[in-house]
Amino acid sequence: MTTPSHNARAGTERGAFTLVELLVVITIIALLMSILLPALAGAREQGKRIHCMANMSSLTKAWLMYALQNDDNLCSADTEWNETPVRGHWVADGPDITTNLIGGTQQAISDGALWSYIGQEIKAYKCKSDSSDLIRSYALSRTMNGKTCDCEHDGIVSFKTWSSIRAASTKMVFVDAAAMEGEKWIEGSFCCVKKIDDIPPQWFNRSTRNITARHSDGCNLSFADSHCEYWKYTDPRTAELAYWQIGSEDASPENADLDRFVQALWGNQ
Ligand SMILES: [Zn+2]
Repeated sequence: MTTPSHNARAGTERGAFTLVELLVVITIIALLMSILLPALAGAREQGKRIHCMANMSSLTKAWLMYALQNDDNLCSADTEWNETPVRGHWVADGPDITTNLIGGTQQAISDGALWSYIGQEIKAYKCKSDSSDLIRSYALSRTMNGKTCDCEHDGIVSFKTWSSIRAASTKMVFVDAAAMEGEKWIEGSFCCVKKIDDIPPQWFNRSTRNITARHSDGCNLSFADSHCEYWKYTDPRTAELAYWQIGSEDASPENADLDRFVQALWGNQ
């Protein structure tokens, strides 16, 4: 027969962990953490990507509403706040952000043509995955009533009205974009190729305008019928270009992502 004090001691001994058991438990927890944390980070980024897509959807619907209420005329992809007469620029940052106090500020957005159509919601202009200090992450395709000039984009076709856009579901409107760290803005008018009709095409970027790869080496885009898509880059050089790790000459040859962008900007005009 055992005494009560003996029973209590035996219970204590059964409940105690040995050092080995403790180490095994810690190892298992560390292993589970190493498996789960990347998955959680991936889920978090996926949430940001979906949020970004919702922003672009709102912007694109505002862009469509502008055309509907302005006799089919598209707002301008350009950003010249001091140009007269005012042509309905979607944002009003430029022309030269280094010589004005408006570019890169909220006023540049609230002076833009889409502000009233998007319910004056400043957050709609910023991607959740954009960790920069900039208040706007998106750019509008230069093919959507952007400036045509004898510059690097010579030869571009710029649609002036919504009804003139051929195959609207294939034509890019807004794109998630990036600028180099330290820049005050992302140019509002987007064209990522050197010359739109160059064969073969060549990427074109500069410190205030580049594609982004911040969504798991891909980006979001919207199209003229207002739907949005996520593009995961298929060529590893595309993300390297987006992160300024290689130049356009190295990233361009036989790059399927570049061909895809050209089609979305320009395909069949
Ligand atoms: Zn985004």
